[in-house]
Amino acid sequence: MQVYINGSFVPKEEARISVFDHGFLYGDGVFEGIRAYHGRIFRLEQHLDRLYDSAKAISLAPPLEKKALADLCYEALRRNHLEDAYLRVIISRGEGDLGLNPRLCQHPGVVIIAGKIALYPKELYDNGMSVITAATPRTNPEALNPHIKSLNYLNNILAKIEGLEAGKMEVLMLNTQGFLAEATGDNIFIVRRGEIATPPESAGILMGVTRQVVLELAAKTGLPCRERDLNRYDLYVADECFLTGTAAEIISVTAVDGRTVGHGRPGPVTQRLQALFRELTQG
Ligand code: PMP
Repeated sequence: MQVYINGSFVPKEEARISVFDHGFLYGDGVFEGIRAYHGRIFRLEQHLDRLYDSAKAISLAPPLEKKALADLCYEALRRNHLEDAYLRVIISRGEGDLGLNPRLCQHPGVVIIAGKIALYPKELYDNGMSVITAATPRTNPEALNPHIKSLNYLNNILAKIEGLEAGKMEVLMLNTQGFLAEATGDNIFIVRRGEIATPPESAGILMGVTRQVVLELAAKTGLPCRERDLNRYDLYVADECFLTGTAAEIISVTAVDGRTVGHGRPGPVTQRLQALFRELTQG
């Protein structure tokens, strides 16, 4: 495997960063997870826009133009002979001293890893997954906006641990106001009486690229869809529930907090959206 790191492609064993990189010391940096299908990188522009917005929000100037980074993403696919892949793009603050001061980090680091992604097992796509709501709230946007896809995922990891303790592969997180935010690595949707709903930007979420694709697919096919605040009640009375993410794509949730969602099977709206999504990526 060839990994891009700070200007060149090297074998993965040689792709090393300094222990003084503030991405490592403080989680000071940003990243993206991006899919390629049949040699085409899916929604690359949106991912890079989000990456550069995340970087801007933490006052980090990427050392490369977007176009150059996009070309490198394709180069990473070519060098690794991959058509279907998961790309991890990282911009870290770079090497500094042991203090917090990002201004002492003169050279931001850029890494691109092109690999494969382990999706959830097929059985979960066929039958839906069972999740819980976490006690850990999603980071308050006033403190650190979840719009920023930063290298510090501890908030999500704490919730993930709650899920693992309960034997669940994914967990839903509420915001500090008690409204649904998102899952630890995915966005969330429900369907109720034919209307699709998902938490709005103001709920304090990562503005998912897959979430946006689903909103577009719903609009295009005339499925009623709304961004609105949701709470546990809305989950418990939903007819369908599903998660969206670059790695997960669209996956049905059939139980929340031990309660069955709808009929306990992937519902018709979820299946329709999965089929439309597949057309986009495989078509
Ligand atoms: N929320 C969080 C916290 C995530 O990490 C991700 C995955 N990057 C998502 C939502 C889904 O976003 P996307 O569809 O852009 O992958």
